[in-house]
Amino acid sequence: MTNLLNIPIKRQNMTLSIRPDLTSADQVLSYEPTKQQPKVTYEEMKQAVRTLLIGLGEDPDREGLLDTPSRVVKALQFLTKGYDDSLDELLNGAVFTENANEMVLVRDIDIFSSCEHHILPIIGRAHVAYIPNGKVIGLSKIARICEMYARRLQVQERLTSQIADALQGLLKPQGVAVVIEATHMCMVMRGVQKPGSWTVTSAMRGVFAEDGRTRQEFMNLVRHNVKFH
Ligand SMILES: [Zn+2]
Repeated sequence: MTNLLNIPIKRQNMTLSIRPDLTSADQVLSYEPTKQQPKVTYEEMKQAVRTLLIGLGEDPDREGLLDTPSRVVKALQFLTKGYDDSLDELLNGAVFTENANEMVLVRDIDIFSSCEHHILPIIGRAHVAYIPNGKVIGLSKIARICEMYARRLQVQERLTSQIADALQGLLKPQGVAVVIEATHMCMVMRGVQKPGSWTVTSAMRGVFAEDGRTRQEFMNLVRHNVKFH
C-alpha cells in the first residue's frame, strides 16, 4: 500500500445546508440519507434470500443451506447497522473545549463498507485530520464516525464526504481532511476483475481545501508509513 497516494485524487465537495433551528449534530444528520422504516418482515426477507438461492440453481432445503437465509439477513442487517446510529448518540458528549490549533491526525482507520451497487464489500483504510478551532473530539470517536457511515450501503466518494462534513459540522474546525484508500470486491471478484486495484478518494474542507501547504503537510503525514515493530 506504500505508493497508493501517488494515484491522482478525486476531490469531493459537498455543501452542508445550515438550519438555525437544529443543533450542529442534527444539522449534519438533516441531509443524510436515512433508512426507511422496513416495509417487509424478517420472514419476508428470509424468503427473498431463499428465492435468490433457487434462482441460482441451488436447493435451499439441502442441509448446508437450511440456515443460510436467516444468516444472510442477519449479516446484511449488521453490515448496514450504521443507519441506526446517530452522531449525537455516538458522540455522547465527547466534544471538548480546548485551546489547541495544531493538526490532529488519526491514520489507518479500518473501513469495512458495502457498495450500494452490488452489496459487496469495500475494504480499506481512512485517514482523518482536522485543525481545531476551540473544540476537540475524543480520538476514538473519529473511528466511530467512520464506522457509522461505513456500515451503510455506500459509494466511496460519499463515505469520504460524509465523514468530513460530520466533523466540520460538529467541531467547526479550521479544516478537515479525509482520505480513504479502499479496494472494492465488486471490481476484484467480478466485472473487470482487477485484484490489487485501489481507489483513493479525498474530501478537504476549510484550510485543507484553501491552503496548499496545509494540505501537503497532511498528505506527507499520511504517506509516511509508521512502524512501531
Ligand atoms: Zn459495486
